[in-house]
Amino acid sequence: MFVGAHVSTAGGLEKAVERGQERGCESIQIFNQSPRMWRPTKYGDEDFAAFKEAMDDSKVEAVIIHAIYLINCATTDKDLRKKSRDTLTNALRIGDGIGAKGVVLHPGSTKGEALGPALKRAGKVIAASLKETDGCKLLLEQTAGHKGLIGRNFDETAELIELSGGGDRLGLCLDSCHMFVQGYDVTDEEHLAAVLDEADEKIGIERLGAVHVNDAAAPLGSHLDRHANIGKGEMGRKGLAAFLSEPRFEGLPATMETPGPDKKGTSKAEVTLAKRLRREGLKRREK
Ligand SMILES: [Zn+2]
Ligand SMILES: [Zn+2]
Repeated sequence: MFVGAHVSTAGGLEKAVERGQERGCESIQIFNQSPRMWRPTKYGDEDFAAFKEAMDDSKVEAVIIHAIYLINCATTDKDLRKKSRDTLTNALRIGDGIGAKGVVLHPGSTKGEALGPALKRAGKVIAASLKETDGCKLLLEQTAGHKGLIGRNFDETAELIELSGGGDRLGLCLDSCHMFVQGYDVTDEEHLAAVLDEADEKIGIERLGAVHVNDAAAPLGSHLDRHANIGKGEMGRKGLAAFLSEPRFEGLPATMETPGPDKKGTSKAEVTLAKRLRREGLKRREK
């Protein structure tokens, strides 16, 4: 497992690697453009080369991209669907450029419309974006399940993967906080193992490409997507230690998206703490 954090790309893609290095990250997650705007940040071959060079010179082993939240592949609005497709395609193109382990996506929202047709619309957009790009994986994130956000359970994601063509580039991202507020108690080794058995049966565990490590500011089953700092939420240190030491997460980037002690994002101290909790979790499992 590569423990790390979401970091800013302000000043250039390679700056993200620097920020990761400063925090002791083994993996980083970035936005490929401002998450509040449709306008893409223009990155070309020189940016990709600078990023890769920075990665080679650092202890950061893996990078993932988080696609922006404005994307809604399931919308009935044709114009918004087109924007979503172009934006997703661009994220995958940058993922190919920098050698990302995947682009994490919240697939979209039903916005109160019927689920079946919404999944079909989303599947078409995703399939098109994959077709327009080379090899970067697309990791569908399990969401907190609020306000019709698709990815509320493994059946929904399994169906969406099918409708998106079912290819090898389609993967899964599990967020500890989202799983917890969905009602899955992933703070317990046995429960977590059962959750992964279900993911394996419905989706295939080989599709799991990344995890997000966040404590939850809201209770189990609340469906509220509020991340807490590591050890400061409902999951707690022991609960996150179980998540961080799960054997089936071995080899995956595990990035935090916490508010941070000063609301500036995940801190170095949190990265250090997460690594320690992982070691503690592994020790507990040996017993
Ligand atoms: Zn997440
Ligand atoms: Zn979240």
